Amino acid sequence: MTKPARTRFAPSPTGHLHIGGARTALFDYLLARQTGGQFILRLEDTDRKRFVPGAEEEIIQGLRWLGVQWEEGPDIGGPYGPYRQSERKDIYLDYARKLIASDNAYYCFCTPERLEAMRQEQMKQKFQLHYDGHCRLIDPDEAQKRVERGETHVIRFKMPTEGSITVIDRLRGAITVENKNLDDTIIVKSDGLALYHLAALVDDHLMKITHVIRGSEWLSTFPLHGHIVRAFGWEEPEWVHLSVFLKPSGKGKMSKRESSELIKDGYSIFVKDLSELGYLPEATANWIALMGWSYDDKTEIFSMQDLIEKFNLDHLNPSPAAINFSKYDYFNGVHIRNLPPEELARRVKGFLEAAGYQVDNHILIRVIPLIQPRIAGLDEAPFMAGFFFREDVVPDPADLVAKKLTAKESAIIARRSLEILENIPTIGPGVAEQAMRNFVDQNGLNAGQVFGILRAAVTGQTISPPLFESMEIIGRQKSLERIRRGIQILEELSA
Ligand code: GLU
Repeated sequence: MTKPARTRFAPSPTGHLHIGGARTALFDYLLARQTGGQFILRLEDTDRKRFVPGAEEEIIQGLRWLGVQWEEGPDIGGPYGPYRQSERKDIYLDYARKLIASDNAYYCFCTPERLEAMRQEQMKQKFQLHYDGHCRLIDPDEAQKRVERGETHVIRFKMPTEGSITVIDRLRGAITVENKNLDDTIIVKSDGLALYHLAALVDDHLMKITHVIRGSEWLSTFPLHGHIVRAFGWEEPEWVHLSVFLKPSGKGKMSKRESSELIKDGYSIFVKDLSELGYLPEATANWIALMGWSYDDKTEIFSMQDLIEKFNLDHLNPSPAAINFSKYDYFNGVHIRNLPPEELARRVKGFLEAAGYQVDNHILIRVIPLIQPRIAGLDEAPFMAGFFFREDVVPDPADLVAKKLTAKESAIIARRSLEILENIPTIGPGVAEQAMRNFVDQNGLNAGQVFGILRAAVTGQTISPPLFESMEIIGRQKSLERIRRGIQILEELSA
């Protein structure tokens, strides 16, 4: 039995939660569930300049919608709280001081002007930009006095100047870099707030995180993180850097502009939009799980329970994952079909109401079997089934005219159809449909033409669920009424 994993999703509340973040959270959740461990939500909100009001709520709502639940977090607390980094400022400062005491960090008093001049010079010389180590040489007691006198300062990690470090990423294996290529990175800013590099590692240690699953944008600073953890002498978690996402064309990383264009096309990479666009959380989890992970290269459909059972870190793939929205639509259709009908009814109801329909639950539950095999998104429900909830439909006269026939011929067919249906006490897929099919055959007509006229008259649209099933739900009286009205329109057209 694997040891229970403690995982964490550590977003910064600086913008919208997107599918990349959601995927990280999902993997965290799956691993924790699978091993009987805990999944933790931690808000990395130390960058007050980039803080976006409402972002925290959006993250929480988005994750809840997706169906990942955490055992510890800012909203519910837990044994290792607080879970908001802005509330842990003193903890980080304490640990930064420990690094100074062990000679792994130092106070830096360089002014912005000095740093700028240094930068200019390095650019001129075509050097890689780096801190030149000016304050490394200050005597620690002297530095301490300057700090006590209130001199503005930051704290930098004291990178060894020789040797190399090897860190292990679960997906990519060993990564070795020369220490001389690493910078004396700032770990505490002049306002006393710790930077990610310190805060995240301190928290991961104190919160007993066993697996750090995060985006591959952190690979470049990964060696620094290895240094910091080792400077403290802590046990290292497993480091898992997930693949990046490519834009739908497969060329290049997804940019902000493209994501806003996608929203126009009925797609989005922001979790907040997905529900309104008609996507199910089940399909979303399935889709994002397969971006950078696979079970066996052929199984595609997974419920959350399947994912919990089958997820495996060894099957993560470091290559960039393409965002494939057609796949998403396909998964959505499959998961819609897998829903119990009553659950689908519950979920489409809001879409119908938002489109202005007064939804009768008894009718809705009868409509569900007709649309369940036919929609790829919940948002298609009003288009597919709105007419069931309308008192009246107003067909476009042109839709009543059958293909390759005139309005007059269409009117005659409609009238004959009406006579047949009026003589049958029911209007469903049984007797009525059979009678109409006989009529089509006996007169050398084409079912598409005849049913097309009736469909337009009864539903007011050219695409709908099967005609006779639909008419049965609408009711015989009302359906015949609509056919009569259609005949009238056709006769006016041909007059
Ligand atoms: N706050 C970091 C981010 O949003 C977290 C990265 C991590 O998971 O350690 O990218």
